[in-house]
Amino acid sequence: MRSELDLELVSLTKRYGETVAVDAINHLFHAGTYACLLGPSGCGKSSTLRMLAGHEIVTEGAIILGGHDISGLPPAKRGTAMMFQNYALFPHLSVVDNVAFSLRMKGVDAPSRLKRAGEMLELVDMTAFADRLPAQLSGGQQQRVALARALITKPQVLLLDEPLSALDPFLRIRMRAELKSLQRELGITFIHVTHGQDEALALADEIVVMNNARIEQAGPAREVFDAPRTAFVARFIGSHNVIALPEGKIAVRSDELRLTTPDAAKLQGRITGVEYQGTHVALTAALAGEQEVTALLTDKDFFGAPKDVGEAVGLDWDSQAAHALSA
Ligand code: ADP
Ligand code: MG
Repeated sequence: MRSELDLELVSLTKRYGETVAVDAINHLFHAGTYACLLGPSGCGKSSTLRMLAGHEIVTEGAIILGGHDISGLPPAKRGTAMMFQNYALFPHLSVVDNVAFSLRMKGVDAPSRLKRAGEMLELVDMTAFADRLPAQLSGGQQQRVALARALITKPQVLLLDEPLSALDPFLRIRMRAELKSLQRELGITFIHVTHGQDEALALADEIVVMNNARIEQAGPAREVFDAPRTAFVARFIGSHNVIALPEGKIAVRSDELRLTTPDAAKLQGRITGVEYQGTHVALTAALAGEQEVTALLTDKDFFGAPKDVGEAVGLDWDSQAAHALSA
């Protein structure tokens, strides 16, 4: 169902001289969705996000929000707000003044803007830090301030470019849970750029996979993970084997592969590696034609019939676990 606040990209294109960074992409972001733009470095994620924010001129195409083409509007007039990778806080301003900054620029009087900034700090649980300078905060705290600063403009769409990449792994996982619960609480659209498949799977209602300036596949996170449509998506989203069969290429999840005796199986191979991962054992096997596949077995299945490097095995899967890939 379409809503007033859906965000639609229509043949959106960005060229820098000869470089086509974003190549006529079309997509409808439903209002209130947590969407992740996922793809390798250089595929056009940031260029897309910067065009949405108004920090980059649209070469061709349109951006429709609330029924209007916003692609020619200045950043502050679009109903979008951006949180930057390095947070870009003003080092000489206190936390509360950083958060209130955009209201000051709009000419909002001091008592009103400090009240709103206070509410935003409460939202991100940073009230106690209002008078500190950014340098006196941890990375996670700086990120919360940057979020409060972006949200004070009451955007309909929050744009986040690799917001977790500056954090250590432990904090990254905590902050991603906070981002998710904040998005639920606010009910606005989040568009979050990442090159991390785990991050996208953990956060996204919808994943938009980009490759070479185009959208390769978009859909609910589970659908993209369970049924990748191209070899690129299967490889990039991870935990899948791309297997070339005489009848065509397929993707099969690593945890859908079973070991059997060689003669009865769909494929025959030789074990090249056994990696113990605690709850699972990852077993790699070389097939004919220099292909390698990974089977992820539960520890019980593996240790019930242990195998060693060099052994010949058969590999099988249920036919509904195989997804045909298009080129
Ligand atoms: P991503 O965020 O997915 O890593 P970008 O959108 O930053 O990708 O870049 C997409 C392509 O556009 C890359 O080839 C990059 O080198 C190029 N590009 C990005 N910004 C500029 C710029 N300001 N000038 C010229 N080329 C750029
Ligand atoms: Mg980028």
